[in-house]
Amino acid sequence: MKARAFTYVRARSLEEAVTRFGEADGEASYISGGQSLVPALALRLQAPAVIIDLAGIATLRGVMLEDGALRIGALTRHADVLTHPLIGAHAPLLREAAPHVAHPAIRNRGTIGGNIALADPASEFPAMLLAIDARVEIFGPAGFRQVPADDYFLDLYQTAAEPGEIVTAILVPPAPPGTVIAMDELARRRGDYAMVGAGLQGRFSTDRTVEALRIAFFSVGATPVRAKGAETAVIGNALDAVAIAKAQRALDDDLDPMDDEEVPAAMRRHLARVLLGRLLQRMRDKT
Ligand SMILES: Cc1cc2nc3c(=O)[nH]c(=O)nc-3n(C[C@H](O)[C@H](O)[C@H](O)COP(=O)(O)OP(=O)(O)OC[C@H]3O[C@@H](n4cnc5c(N)ncnc54)[C@H](O)[C@@H]3O)c2cc1C
Repeated sequence: MKARAFTYVRARSLEEAVTRFGEADGEASYISGGQSLVPALALRLQAPAVIIDLAGIATLRGVMLEDGALRIGALTRHADVLTHPLIGAHAPLLREAAPHVAHPAIRNRGTIGGNIALADPASEFPAMLLAIDARVEIFGPAGFRQVPADDYFLDLYQTAAEPGEIVTAILVPPAPPGTVIAMDELARRRGDYAMVGAGLQGRFSTDRTVEALRIAFFSVGATPVRAKGAETAVIGNALDAVAIAKAQRALDDDLDPMDDEEVPAAMRRHLARVLLGRLLQRMRDKT
């Protein structure tokens, strides 16, 4: 199938992009890396009359430390997340997740802004943003605003961004010294979307007690999910077998996984428990 004919606009500024979007009367789509939009156009799952290319907007580029936060521009490609030294140093969980996102060809074009804007519940980066307590910077007709990742993912492919608003950057509090991370997913084949995945970021005290921990799952529901019960089960405790088992039990209340023919909900729950156990042990082994 071929995409419907559309008008192509290469925006030079955020203001121009938002204005052109507004003029299209709900018939426009932004494009960044095109790795999700182009297949959707070809399958006519989306058929916008106007496509507004964000790739030429200079302010969406760059990774820098600014005002005490790591600022990752929306046009940062998945491949750059894997190799950028500032991301490796200050947001190591994102780097850990990057090799799990699709295949090298897609990682060379797909952008973190497009990925977060799309908010696919099976996607790795959205859950990592919850685990690292990131904020999403958004630009719209009323200017810039910031939304904590915890409040950004609202429902299936639905975010706190209004139609026409642009994800401009991800803002990350730099991981403090001694930060311990663990990330993995269970997929049928490497490069496939995961049946279940999770990212963890925490800190341990000198006596190996868990001081801080954030746990976020993906591919378990309509949005990425913080496992707050599991976090509470281990914070303040040594990460021994008893604490890990307690965290795994707490997951039953944290998660309400979806059911489908490929992966029944009960299997997702089981896989999530197994994965959490592995990741907590991996963290313990690093301390
Ligand atoms: C075969 C295949 C396998 C894949 N596997 C995975 C995987 O395992 N994990 C994973 O996470 N992803 C996977 N992807 C998706 C990939 O990561 C995409 O790159 C990503 O989801 C979208 O990024 P993009 O920059 O290409 O966005 P685009 O395709 O350009 O846009 C995606 C959507 O976001 C909107 N948009 C784009 N940029 C912005 C912005 N800055 N602000 C507001 N809206 C915007 C667009 O209008 C569109 O609706 C896969 C894709 C393919 C084709």
